[in-house]
Amino acid sequence: MTVTTKLALTESLPLSCSRSGSCCFGKQVYINPWELACLAQAKELTPKEFRDRYCEFGGIRLRFDGATSFKGMSACSQYIPDFGCSVHPGRPLVCRLYPLGRQKQNEKQDYIFQGQEFPCLKDCPEVLNLPQMRVTDYITGQAAKSFELVQDEYLEIMQNLADAAFVLLLDSGLAESGDRETLNLWREMGSEEPELLAKRIGQEWINHLMLPALADSLDDPESFSQRHYDLLLTEAELLLNTLDTLSDYSKASGLMMGLALHLGRSLGAKPSELAEHWITTAKEHGAHGQ
Ligand code: SF4
Repeated sequence: MTVTTKLALTESLPLSCSRSGSCCFGKQVYINPWELACLAQAKELTPKEFRDRYCEFGGIRLRFDGATSFKGMSACSQYIPDFGCSVHPGRPLVCRLYPLGRQKQNEKQDYIFQGQEFPCLKDCPEVLNLPQMRVTDYITGQAAKSFELVQDEYLEIMQNLADAAFVLLLDSGLAESGDRETLNLWREMGSEEPELLAKRIGQEWINHLMLPALADSLDDPESFSQRHYDLLLTEAELLLNTLDTLSDYSKASGLMMGLALHLGRSLGAKPSELAEHWITTAKEHGAHGQ
C-alpha cells in the first residue's frame, strides 16, 4: 500500500507532538493480553499491578483519567504533561497506527482512515511543516509488525474460545434437549456493558485471559500467544472434567462465549455483531433460541 499521507508520521511523533495534540486525549485504547504485558514492562510493573492501576474491564482498556485535559477530553493514564507517553517502547498497536486503523478480512489487510481530515492536521498544526511519509514507511517506523502478528494470533484464540462454546452446546446433548437459554445468554452477553461482562466472567477467568504468567516469552510474541492459548486450553479441560448436568454445560458454554466476546472487544470487534453471527451459526447446526 502506498498511500501518501499529509503527515510526517515518525517514531518520535507521540513524544514530540502529543503535548499539545489530541492523540492521547479522549480515546478508547483497547489492549490484548500481550500488549498489557508490554505496557507493564515499559512501566516496570507486573502485568497485574499495571492492570489494577491503569486499566478497566479486567485489563482490556487503558484508563483515560490523566491529570491534564485537551478540549475537555481527559488524558490517557500513561500521558505525562510536558513529556508525552510514559510507556512509549511498549505502547499498543492502536497508538502505533494512529490516526490510521487496520482492517483485516481473511488474508487481506488494509490500513484505513475513517473521516474527512486527520485530527492531527487540526489539533497539531506543526505537523504541516514536517516532510510527508508513505503509509508503509510509517508502519515500519512504528515497529508495528509484531503487534499486528499478535493481534491476528489473538483473533484465532477468540475464534477457538467461541468454538469451545459451540462444542459445549452442540455436542453435549444440550441443543438436542431443546435448550434455549444458552443462545439467549450469548445474545445477552453480546450487548452487555464490558464492566458487567467482566464481572459475569469472574476474576479467576479474567485473570486467565489477561494475566498469563508468561514473562519469559514477552520478547517472542508468537510464542507468548501460543503458550497463552495452551494455558487457556488446560484450564478449559479442567473445567470440562467438572461438568455433569446439562445446566453445567450451558453455564460452561456461556463462559467460553463470554471470554470470546470480551477478548473480541479487546481486539476491536463489536461483541453484539460477533454474538449474532455465532448465534446464527449455532442455529444452523441445530441449536435453539430467539
Ligand atoms: S499509551 Fe501512550 S501513546 Fe497511547 S494513548 Fe496512552 S499516552 Fe498516548
